[in-house]
Amino acid sequence: MSAQDTTATIASGEQAGRSQMSERHMLIDGQLVGAQHTYPSINPASGDVLGYAPNADVVDAERAIAAARAAFDTTDWSTNVELRIRCMEQLHSALVEHSDELRALTIAEVGATKALTESAQLDDPIRIVGYYANLLKTYEMSEDLGEIESRGQRHHRWVEKEAAGVVAAIIAYNYPNQLALAKLGPSLAAGCTVILKAAPDTPLTTLALGEVIAKHTDIPAGVINVISSTDPAVGAALTTSPDVDVVTFTGSTATGRKIMAAASDTIKKVFLELGGKSAMIVLDDADFTNCAMMAAFMICSHAGQGCAITTRLLVPRAHHDEIVELVKNFMGMVRYGDPADPSTYMGPLINDTQRDKVDGMVQRAVAAGATVVTGGKKVDGPGFFYEPTLITGVDPDSELAQEEIFGPVLAVLAYEDDDDAVRIANNSIYGLSGGVFGGHDRALAIARRIRTGTMGINGGNYFGPDSPFGGYKQSGVGREMGVAGLEEFLERKTLAAVVS
Ligand code: NAD
Repeated sequence: MSAQDTTATIASGEQAGRSQMSERHMLIDGQLVGAQHTYPSINPASGDVLGYAPNADVVDAERAIAAARAAFDTTDWSTNVELRIRCMEQLHSALVEHSDELRALTIAEVGATKALTESAQLDDPIRIVGYYANLLKTYEMSEDLGEIESRGQRHHRWVEKEAAGVVAAIIAYNYPNQLALAKLGPSLAAGCTVILKAAPDTPLTTLALGEVIAKHTDIPAGVINVISSTDPAVGAALTTSPDVDVVTFTGSTATGRKIMAAASDTIKKVFLELGGKSAMIVLDDADFTNCAMMAAFMICSHAGQGCAITTRLLVPRAHHDEIVELVKNFMGMVRYGDPADPSTYMGPLINDTQRDKVDGMVQRAVAAGATVVTGGKKVDGPGFFYEPTLITGVDPDSELAQEEIFGPVLAVLAYEDDDDAVRIANNSIYGLSGGVFGGHDRALAIARRIRTGTMGINGGNYFGPDSPFGGYKQSGVGREMGVAGLEEFLERKTLAAVVS
């Protein structure tokens, strides 16, 4: 399908969505339940109502918290490793078995392309559950510190790792399966119990996970609770309740600040995965064609709605025009439209508000003197599509170079030398990710100077269930996935006994 033909092509995505129209339920204390009110979830590729989700209120949230608390305090979930391994293996198999249904829903509700559901939007997140089930088989839950002499006696000391308690997991809309399962996997492995709150724009996808858990696993009642809501008071209840021990949050830095403050009264453990404004640095000895292709397709992946996407392209001033021309040509090859069509590369933005935000930032950049090389407009027709957009002449201190955009808009910034590239890349409140292209040793040296949690060298893929992911600076606190991700949900109890 060509980039301009979106109108006629949404029908199949709509049909995929329509088959999921039945109302979804929340999972509270082992029961699939509704709420007093529901609200519609919108297919972003068509603007049509896809289905209805329960709109939980604070009473529902408190029931979910109480169920998670009781499951933690009164069952053996937190101490029975064999049970947890069995349940997690069951959950992994059930998700694989139901992946066709989950895929159709993710395409229809999130606007994720089919190709993306075969990686980071669904199939990769399912693997995270299998990874943590396996990790639990070998992970040492205790650590021997040996003996010391003290007060005339010998003392044996050791550390036991214990589940941190009841976890409130609050997620963003953009990769709901990844965000939910990267929180459920390690928290279940650790022995925690969880209240998972869906993002208001993508409730059905997250509720479907809860339904798989309820219907196809032996995970005990109350261990996982899944709720959906548009009520800000529900988020507040989760982050302030004295019965919640840990808050794990993925979303914007602005919300992360509020959550950190809300959780401070009860001194919760707070884990934050927040925004990014990552830089791709092209060195003068890089393969420009390869870099341009990576830059163009990366910014259009999920229509730019990814926290780790490189939204600033840093190019050597002497090669600026050549690289810009190459990126423009690759952007012209990006096929957008019906996300269910296997040949579509880019789907829609999540809603019209987000599209207006993207367009507003583009218009303000132009008013400030930047140049739109290609794109820069909303796409006419149904759904919330925005053209792949390339902008040059961007001031490194301007809004477009500093603020997260969450749209398919790439800002080009010219630099003078390697030190200047590093300075511009680090000129950000964020520190989530980035990439550098050039001769390996020089590129690696630059990667080590960038203050971010992840860096790809010449397109290296750092993302996987076993690799820690997270941010420096205002991109977050803590690491998700890998062993580090498990340890976010563990407490350490140091024990000592006199040796008789
Ligand atoms: P958002 O911050 O608007 O909302 C995220 C979640 O927080 C939603 O579930 C929302 O209902 C809830 N929420 C909002 N206010 C709250 C409050 N005061 N207390 C408790 N919960 C509250 O984010 P979004 O628009 O859904 O997602 C986009 C953002 O997520 C971007 O900034 C993106 O960078 C970030 N993100 C980060 C990562 C990462 O791994 N670092 C991954 C994906 C998305």
